[in-house]
Amino acid sequence: MPKRQGDYIIHDDRFRALILGAHVPVERLWSEGRWVEGPVWFGDAGHLLWSDIPNDRIMRWTEGGGVTVFREPSNFANGHTRDLQGRLISCEHGGRRVTRTEWDGSLTVLADSYRGKRLNSPNDVVVAPDGAIWFTDPDYGILSDYEGHAAPRELDGCWLFRLEPESGDLAVMADDFAKPNGLAFSPDGARLYVADTGRSHDPDGPGHIRVFSLSGGGLADGHVFAAPDVGLADGFRCDRAGNLWTSAGDGIHCFAPDGALLERVLVPETVSNCAFGGPRLNRLFITATTSLYAVFLDTRGAGPH
Ligand code: MG
Repeated sequence: MPKRQGDYIIHDDRFRALILGAHVPVERLWSEGRWVEGPVWFGDAGHLLWSDIPNDRIMRWTEGGGVTVFREPSNFANGHTRDLQGRLISCEHGGRRVTRTEWDGSLTVLADSYRGKRLNSPNDVVVAPDGAIWFTDPDYGILSDYEGHAAPRELDGCWLFRLEPESGDLAVMADDFAKPNGLAFSPDGARLYVADTGRSHDPDGPGHIRVFSLSGGGLADGHVFAAPDVGLADGFRCDRAGNLWTSAGDGIHCFAPDGALLERVLVPETVSNCAFGGPRLNRLFITATTSLYAVFLDTRGAGPH
């Protein structure tokens, strides 16, 4: 039977060690957004960046310094990550593109079209161990003027892309998603998790995370890995042991590499995404509707962002 312990529900006693205990609460750090998403940690700067999409801005939090605006307007930026050189890689709904922020602050457009047709609205992004940029391209950012600019779709679907940043080569890696969304590599880079949140606009649509093996430059053995029983898996990150910490309707759900639900961290707003941060990467930053939350855990993130 699941056991409530402070802000946590333990589903599997073997993994009680992932949390510090009932005395460590989920803290709310800020609450002035509309729909926040896309957290990314910069250990060198000691700050977290995340998007406040409907307000068309990227926010920044530092310990002791609070929250300030990092970039406004942001072209309705959504997901972020860092490349192997530490540069910020961003998905923009408004620009319908993926950009890189250079060290001098200028923006380089990495991808905005595929075979002459504009992308839908890049949503979330990760960088593979070989430096390739993988991103999802659902149409959330062009469905209305709330999180971007309403516009017709030019592509025939919502796809998963792989981008070679040096050559600019863009390849469709999966075309059988309804609305591909969050994505993350396993710590060893051998597996890729990709969410499908098609249920957001179709009650019979998918609401799960698929997992693939990386094989010969492509994806293989795709199957459903897990599905939160409340809400949707919009975005997620892995810890060093390969456990997947994903957004859900009632907080964060933690799944073991075999797909078993280990525990959930309860958050009072619908969660969109999360990222490990802090000097020891043991603090999970959580973007949830209007707010930024954080909780210290007894595990560490798999990567620096
Ligand atoms: Mg997303």
